[in-house]
Amino acid sequence: MSDKKRSALVAGGGLGGLASAVALAQRGWDVTVLERQSELRANGSGIYIWENGLRVLKALGAYEQAIEGAFYGSHFEQRDLNNEVIDCGPTPANRRLITVMRSQLLKSLEQAGKRAGVKVRTNVEVIAANARGEVQLASGERLRADLVVGADGIWSRIRQALGLELVHEQTREGALRTMIERRPGDTQEQDAQKYIENWNGLHRLLITPVSETQTYLALTCPHDDVRASNTQIDKEYWSALFPHWAHLIARADGPVSWGRYSVTRCKTWSSGRTAILGDAAHAQPPNLGQGGGMAMQNGLALATFLEKVQDVRDIPDALEAWENNEREIVEHCQKWSCLYGEISALPDAVRTQVVRSAMANPWSYAQIFRAASHTPTGTVQAERC
Ligand SMILES: Cc1cc2nc3c(=O)[nH]c(=O)nc-3n(C[C@H](O)[C@H](O)[C@H](O)COP(=O)(O)OP(=O)(O)OC[C@H]3O[C@@H](n4cnc5c(N)ncnc54)[C@H](O)[C@@H]3O)c2cc1C
Repeated sequence: MSDKKRSALVAGGGLGGLASAVALAQRGWDVTVLERQSELRANGSGIYIWENGLRVLKALGAYEQAIEGAFYGSHFEQRDLNNEVIDCGPTPANRRLITVMRSQLLKSLEQAGKRAGVKVRTNVEVIAANARGEVQLASGERLRADLVVGADGIWSRIRQALGLELVHEQTREGALRTMIERRPGDTQEQDAQKYIENWNGLHRLLITPVSETQTYLALTCPHDDVRASNTQIDKEYWSALFPHWAHLIARADGPVSWGRYSVTRCKTWSSGRTAILGDAAHAQPPNLGQGGGMAMQNGLALATFLEKVQDVRDIPDALEAWENNEREIVEHCQKWSCLYGEISALPDAVRTQVVRSAMANPWSYAQIFRAASHTPTGTVQAERC
């Protein structure tokens, strides 16, 4: 890029927005993040980060802080209603999977942003943006920059203002998320390093240790199951569904959040000098644990494609090249996450067969883990940590 410092406004201080902001600032951009909340805050409890996401964090200089005290899962095991293993899902060494608290992950990106000179304005609600890099705030203020990034989540005002939306739908499923204390003996000794996903009809219980002392529980059900989706967790109901885990459900006394899953797809990811990414552009159900990974990966890729831009007039072409390069892997991951969600509607015995066949078949296995095995743009093999 030329000597003149280019400016960027990033709407949304979530995983996608912060990853973009850090990556742009590291490449010499003057970046301001505009966040609606009163502080940079993560919604939800724990989060899975696959190999691709870890590589992105390394490239952004956020890796060490993000993984401090993290839980390294040796297996992502799936079990049926009788607690019988459907698939034991070993995690190969070249495709790591870790879990941490979301707050820790976000903080690691915030700190990396500080080091790179990213400015953050909180209590700022963006209500629109246009292709010329102009942003309108709810306060009436108007801002302008060479580049605007809309990383303002599933209800993205920027996506709507630019008229880019093709699909925005909520799936039938949603999840209750909460944290419990992790205690010795929570699982059998041989299961201590595992993530365990349990299925029973339309309900799922995912047990995710995130540190030595904390376990994240995700209780998935159809949104119209009023009893199951109650944020005052109905322990009797959930324990009857998953009696082998009643001792964990009994401990679910902390704050609980409920969220339905969303899918968004866009005609294009940019208009002029304004781009959208993360859930704003390509939200996916969390079945593969990759929505945040894709948001961070795409943020780094965006900055990498803008690296070569000499003139502000070249930004739209660079954004087109970015989308041409990245869209296929992101939409592949989204498609397979949606497909995976479909198995929740199958009768238990059929689901068991389908999962076993899919995991045993080299082709379907490769599709499911393709995003996790992908080397993201802006990272190199040598950066594997
Ligand atoms: C139950 C569940 C479990 C999940 N588990 C995982 C997992 O294990 N691993 C994984 O990788 N992904 C997971 N995901 C997906 C992941 O949470 C999202 O894909 C990721 O958070 C998207 O990041 P984002 O920055 O695009 O959007 P968001 O995280 O939604 O961030 C958007 C930000 O923009 C701000 N904002 C919104 N509107 C405005 C506005 N108008 N003006 C200014 N600011 C605004 C918001 O306050 C927020 O800070 C899960 C999702 C769910 C629902």
